[in-house]
Amino acid sequence: MHTDLVAALDIGGTKIAGALVDGHGRIQARAQRATPAREDGDTVMGAVEAVLAELTASPLWGRATAVGIGSAGPVDASAGTVSPVNVPGWRDYPLVRRVRAATGGLPVELIGDGVAITAAEHWQGAARGHDNALCMVVSTGVGGGLVLGGRLHPGPTGNAGHIGHISVDLDGDPCPCGARGCVERIASGPNIARRALEGGWVPGPDGDTS
Ligand SMILES: [Zn+2]
Repeated sequence: MHTDLVAALDIGGTKIAGALVDGHGRIQARAQRATPAREDGDTVMGAVEAVLAELTASPLWGRATAVGIGSAGPVDASAGTVSPVNVPGWRDYPLVRRVRAATGGLPVELIGDGVAITAAEHWQGAARGHDNALCMVVSTGVGGGLVLGGRLHPGPTGNAGHIGHISVDLDGDPCPCGARGCVERIASGPNIARRALEGGWVPGPDGDTS
């Protein structure tokens, strides 16, 4: 049997996506659930387990050798825990241990989602061939990651380059992280829509303000 796939988990404030990915970065199977972000921690974990159950039921699952998680931050990669700002039910949540238990003891690696997208952009995307890069993800939150000297630079806890909670307006709106005027409070998808609505924007009939 080939053992050439890895299982990937992308955990965000809006959705939880999972996939089986081959050595060329091609997705061979995928599953997705909405993130019950306002629910308690075990309910959020239930959505993760539903995604994993769909993947482990795939005939391809036997080829998976490891699980990689990119999670909304902050994360603590050395402790295997996550505390996503937009998922209040998870604070120092032992995600790595729970995912390992749900996948039959496969090795599990955790990094911040901004670092994960940076690894992907450096490998196959816009940062290919560049020794130094800052890559950003703008969705429910704003994340980022760094390539320095040709290598991914996650830092000791996996959050290096996470620019979403740098304050750029000291008198700005309060942010759920406790600071004011964070990049994320101004420039995440939901906050772009919120600021536009406050400024008088009227979405069209199909307008998506999420
Ligand atoms: Zn913040």
